[in-house]
Amino acid sequence: MDYRFTVEQEAFRKEFADWLAKQIPKGFDPSKRNYYDDDEWKAAYQKFQKSLFEGGYAAMHYEKEYGGQGKTMMEQVIVQQTIATTCGELSMPGGITMGMALPTIHSCCTEAQKREHIPKILDGTYIWCQGFSEPNAGSDVANCATRAVRKNGDYIIDGQKTWTSFAHMADWCILLVRTDPSVAKHKGLSYLLVNMKTPGIEVRPMVQLTEEAEFNEVFFDNVKVPVENRVGEEGQGWMIAITTLMFERTIGDAIMGPMYERNYKRLVDLAKSTLREGKPVIENPVIRQQLAQAYIETMVLKYHGLRNLSKTLKGGIPGPEGSIGKLLWSEPNQRITENALNMQGLNSQVMRGSPWTIQDGNWQYSYLRAKGNTIEAGSSEIQRNIIGERCLLLPKDSSREARRK
Ligand SMILES: Cc1cc2nc3c(=O)[nH]c(=O)nc-3n(C[C@H](O)[C@H](O)[C@H](O)COP(=O)(O)OP(=O)(O)OC[C@H]3O[C@@H](n4cnc5c(N)ncnc54)[C@H](O)[C@@H]3O)c2cc1C
Repeated sequence: MDYRFTVEQEAFRKEFADWLAKQIPKGFDPSKRNYYDDDEWKAAYQKFQKSLFEGGYAAMHYEKEYGGQGKTMMEQVIVQQTIATTCGELSMPGGITMGMALPTIHSCCTEAQKREHIPKILDGTYIWCQGFSEPNAGSDVANCATRAVRKNGDYIIDGQKTWTSFAHMADWCILLVRTDPSVAKHKGLSYLLVNMKTPGIEVRPMVQLTEEAEFNEVFFDNVKVPVENRVGEEGQGWMIAITTLMFERTIGDAIMGPMYERNYKRLVDLAKSTLREGKPVIENPVIRQQLAQAYIETMVLKYHGLRNLSKTLKGGIPGPEGSIGKLLWSEPNQRITENALNMQGLNSQVMRGSPWTIQDGNWQYSYLRAKGNTIEAGSSEIQRNIIGERCLLLPKDSSREARRK
């Protein structure tokens, strides 16, 4: 199998990279991680997404009538890979919008819903968040207790979501709610598109290890959502939520490989430039072994991503094998960032902002942020359950089956 770009694809990649270089805002340094305050970050994202849209590079693979470019998935991947390795921070507030809300709306919504929402996503007007997890429904998403009661053409929503990334910036939310508590738990769910400015919604940011508040608690108190904002039929919420999660777990696959290759080069630079007892740490055999392991894991991720991409190019909605990619990026990231801190010795204790930081404290930030990688988008244990049961067709986890009944 030949994984290289064709001559046309390479020409498109170069054309886009040249265009992108001219869009990078003043002060943004592509050689390191760039940090923003929340309001600045939302504005920077919206401006960047608008420029992509106006430049003819938003949703290359979507139909023109929804604001896409009518090209193939390959052009879309080239655009996303180039952004991720050049100025990923600018697109980050739109991660859930682009990776989950958009493909779900595109594949599951009515024509009217698509025409209403897709163009406003593609031109950067709206940011979306994903309201699935609750205090008692994280891994077990179907345990969702947020209630939606139908009354005169509206659903009245009461309940709480948690860990809702970017809810503090979001204009809209894809929300999983319980519309029927009298049937089996997977059957009583519905899926709604909720405007975050609706009265009764309160967003409370939660501070993470990194000292950022990337996610939030979201409270719903008597929130009125029109019935026409439902996706699919009442009671079909579980199937639509699974579709969203499949998209979530496969978004990264083709994009993570090039990002990890770039990070790997930074790791090697770190090993070459950091001295221990007067010698670069790259001369230490244990560090060399860690670098070799990081390289192997980066290549496995890259080729897994390409294999999945070639499958996706043949059409269809992603399947449970997205869980393999999730494990391949989340677990190595924790090992790689830990190795980077070990290489730095005592300097690993100082954070961004100190004159003693190495490589601007990026590895310290990444080490702390990586802790969430094996939890977000479904924990490692849940991914292994999915791979076992749905990819390898092993017998089901009996304790879970018992709980389900
Ligand atoms: C950075 C970050 C961003 C997030 N963003 C969002 C978001 O935008 N929207 C959203 O809805 N959610 C979001 N989440 C929530 C995330 O999806 C949940 O945290 C995750 O699904 C785990 O749920 P939980 O935290 O309730 O843990 P629990 O489900 O309580 O799990 C606790 C532990 O038990 C294990 N476990 C649970 N069930 C099983 C089982 N059947 N078999 C084996 N082990 C099991 C888990 O692996 C875990 O180790 C985010 C989380 C993080 C860390």
